[in-house]
Amino acid sequence: MSGRLRHYVCGSTVHDPAAMFRGGERGIRTFPSGVFLYDDPDNGRRVLFDTGYATGEWNTGWRGSVYRRLLPPTVDASDDVAERLRSDGIDPASVTHVVLSHLHPDHGGGVRRFPDATFVLSMGLLRSLDAPRLRDGILTGLMPAWFPAAKKIVLGEDAFAPHERAGHELRVADLFGDGSYLVVDLPGHAAGHIGALVENRVLLAGDAAWGSDLLDVADRLRPVPRAVQHDYPAYRQTAATLRALADSGIRIVCSHDARGEMELLG
Ligand SMILES: [Zn+2]
Repeated sequence: MSGRLRHYVCGSTVHDPAAMFRGGERGIRTFPSGVFLYDDPDNGRRVLFDTGYATGEWNTGWRGSVYRRLLPPTVDASDDVAERLRSDGIDPASVTHVVLSHLHPDHGGGVRRFPDATFVLSMGLLRSLDAPRLRDGILTGLMPAWFPAAKKIVLGEDAFAPHERAGHELRVADLFGDGSYLVVDLPGHAAGHIGALVENRVLLAGDAAWGSDLLDVADRLRPVPRAVQHDYPAYRQTAATLRALADSGIRIVCSHDARGEMELLG
């Protein structure tokens, strides 16, 4: 296996870690919104993990106004996922698959740029998209009208099989049947939240933690950030599993990590 895994930033927000975790460092930290393109030319696949923030106007009503007040995004036209890919010489229309970790606005805002791709999502996510409750944090106004009819691979319970790594049992779905891209069940943050283990080396962990350096403080979330997790006990367990995987040599990459390099498999 010898693909490329490229990291792009599609907007950002800021938080004060002291307000998020007991013992967190006081100050303003920028949390970029990462998207990740696995380019596997041997098999003619381009697999995008998440799509970043939506650029331009958000027609998302009062829910969107509340969201933007609580978590103000910084997004300009160059943060658009399609623009990011183009400026790296990649035609967005050549993306074959889009894996959605979950559909909070900092992950699903660029879905509309990929009308011809096959979307990969969990049954849990699809259910919450069909009937979103306020606390699911999904702004349906960001989703394109064509999405219900888009090509999809929906991973139900039976799609995931046990997979032993570092003494922990993961639940994975082998997306292409060749082990190159394992979709990993990472429960806790949102309904049906998933990650991806790419070439058995890099685990794209989505929002399993706010940063790969913040896995250790998953147990110390303050009440408000705790309340926005879909299932906090599962969130803590997922963080513990990821810490063990990191110790075993797998590189854990969270969606909001601040990282300078673009190539992650190199
Ligand atoms: Zn996020």
